[in-house]
Amino acid sequence: MDLSRKDIKYLIGVGPKRAEMFASDMDITTYDDLMQLYPYKYVDRSHIYRISELRSDMPYVQICGRFVSLQTVAGRQPRLSAQFSDGSGYVELVWFKGIDYIKSQINSTDEYVIFGKPTIFNQHFNITHPEMEKVGSASMQAGTLQPFYNTSEKMKKAGFNSRAIQKLIRNLFAEVPPTEIEETLPQSVVGSCGLLSKAEALLQIHFPQNTPMLERARYRLKFEELFYIHLSLLRNRNINRSRQAGIPFPKAGVHLNKFYRECLPFEPTNAQKRVVREMCADMASGRQMNRLLQGDVGSGKTLVALMVMLVAIGNSSADGMPYQACIMAPTEILANQHYDSISRMLEGMDLRVELLTGSTKKKQRTPILAGIADGSVNIVVGTHALIEDTVVFRNLGLAVVDEQHRFGVAQRARLWAKAAVPPHVLVMTATPIPRTLAMTVYGDLDVSVIDELPPGRKPVQTEHYFHNSRNSLNRFIREQLQLGRQCYVVYPLIDESEKMDFKNLTEGFEYMKEAFSEYKVCMVHGRMPADEKDEAMRQFVSGEAHIMVATTVIEVGVNVPNASVMIIESAERFGLSQLHQLRGRVGRGADQSYCVLMTDYKLSDDTRKRMEVMVGTTDGFEIAEADMRLRGPGNIEGTQQSGLPFTLHISDLARDAQLVQFTRDKAIELLADDPLLSSPVNGIALKRLSQLSKEHVNWSNIS
Ligand code: ADP
Ligand code: MG
Repeated sequence: MDLSRKDIKYLIGVGPKRAEMFASDMDITTYDDLMQLYPYKYVDRSHIYRISELRSDMPYVQICGRFVSLQTVAGRQPRLSAQFSDGSGYVELVWFKGIDYIKSQINSTDEYVIFGKPTIFNQHFNITHPEMEKVGSASMQAGTLQPFYNTSEKMKKAGFNSRAIQKLIRNLFAEVPPTEIEETLPQSVVGSCGLLSKAEALLQIHFPQNTPMLERARYRLKFEELFYIHLSLLRNRNINRSRQAGIPFPKAGVHLNKFYRECLPFEPTNAQKRVVREMCADMASGRQMNRLLQGDVGSGKTLVALMVMLVAIGNSSADGMPYQACIMAPTEILANQHYDSISRMLEGMDLRVELLTGSTKKKQRTPILAGIADGSVNIVVGTHALIEDTVVFRNLGLAVVDEQHRFGVAQRARLWAKAAVPPHVLVMTATPIPRTLAMTVYGDLDVSVIDELPPGRKPVQTEHYFHNSRNSLNRFIREQLQLGRQCYVVYPLIDESEKMDFKNLTEGFEYMKEAFSEYKVCMVHGRMPADEKDEAMRQFVSGEAHIMVATTVIEVGVNVPNASVMIIESAERFGLSQLHQLRGRVGRGADQSYCVLMTDYKLSDDTRKRMEVMVGTTDGFEIAEADMRLRGPGNIEGTQQSGLPFTLHISDLARDAQLVQFTRDKAIELLADDPLLSSPVNGIALKRLSQLSKEHVNWSNIS
């Protein structure tokens, strides 16, 4: 039976009203969805304590005995008070709510199991609102691992709590016996990995026999989730490889050679050379390159991008037309900066490099568009403006996307579509992500890593200050300015329409102008007209302005090597990866640089940890690992948009790192003999993949 097609409202105990709540609050609409609502915890109710063993520091206990007396105590808050005994002692049980109902359930001759948290009151034990079940009743939890399910507040109010969900799942299994639950992994995989069957795993996850069986069930379900993520990504990669002939770039070409001999501004690091070689091999292979370049802030990705673009434009199509290359940046500031540094590096090379952004005036735009269309423009640097339909390339061979996480996947897809044979694609990101996450999020891309910074960089020294140390901070800034350095002050303005934040920013600007009246202070934020923004940036880049007060528009890519101080205001409001990005704006020259995290005195534990991580390390990968531990992998900045192909219900990319690797190996094994899963023995896998992709939009064949 295909449970993903059975509407939850037909399950006994659900009905239209609850079905609506399920859909709106928990995104559960089918039998399959409910099956996949796995308990978030289990309470071990296998042990029954004697009352004489109770201690007040025990969290939850179970006792078994009889009611000795029962009395309703009147008062402002009436309560039902019962003496309960198992022969070893007495406990008082107290109810403030549902008194009549509870009374009607109690029979002095029957034996009951009581479950709750004991506290000491008037020198004897007391349990308020315990759970109670008659020994021998059908739904006894005593002696089992009791599952607990998440529900929403609204559902709880409607009496639709964890217990009620458990009952529904019991009904579900009554209606759909395990023999009717289809296996969803290929038999070869179930067999070779010693997994429980799907039916058994589902049964055990909801009604565990014992802890070892529960563990096996969890393992099987996690295995399946992760396995299908890999299988989907890897199969897509196989499809792309078999289908997408790429443009062959057989040679390094004259431009790269000339650049390397005459224009190289500095010796590339070994890591830079290695990743360029990896990309050249891709582009020579006749297959489309789909590569992700990871490199910490300041690792020199721009030079790498430039070198591969030179390879692209040094090759020609069969008609003798040289290929073109483009690089797309997420902000205008960054596009401008790329344009400046690339044009500077290519001086004397006789190549046509153009800049195309939203604020390129029509008068300039028309000839640029014409040059892109007739092939006379070799390299275009731009923003989103590049993906507009008016931009038509004559012969696009390579598209580079910088700081990938600012771009939506759909936007990238439009870029790919700009040539008959898809261009090679290089995606660059400065958001280092842990290896296991990279494997899944970017599983269909090849990954290159720049794991080395240019020589001579000193790690940025980071301090955490509270607002009340403003005076000593100002002294410090002044010292640095006197040494000829420059300083950034960044305010959180995550949503450019937040009024409060905007006020903080402008007040901060006024404050700095007053406190440092002998220096020039400039301001940059996203709401400014482009020309004012450019002017402020220019002042800071040229050294005319000494202090730049800004929002996170400067987060990505801005490069002013003389700036040595980064002050981050309200640092508690930034995520780890963003803090790391911001800090990466300094420490780009040879001078010792500093980052100061300003926060309130009162901080949550989580925030305090974030600050500690920042003070403790400058290693982007370490920070990414810490971020993943603190926030869970789903929330890592830069990964939401790329997204996993399917939702994870039970596995956790951080905690289950080993299984992530193992299931990837298994997926590779399966695909080795059957790259597209076209063989009938793997029919189950193909069917499951299509079921899963129906539930979720599948981005993986886009990037
Ligand atoms: P990111 O990877 O953050 O984009 P950039 O490409 O902006 O880094 O480079 C950061 C700085 O390092 C720039 O000032 C750049 O000129 C410099 N740089 C890059 N590669 C090298 C190198 N091999 N040797 C010295 N400096 C380098
Ligand atoms: Mg960059």
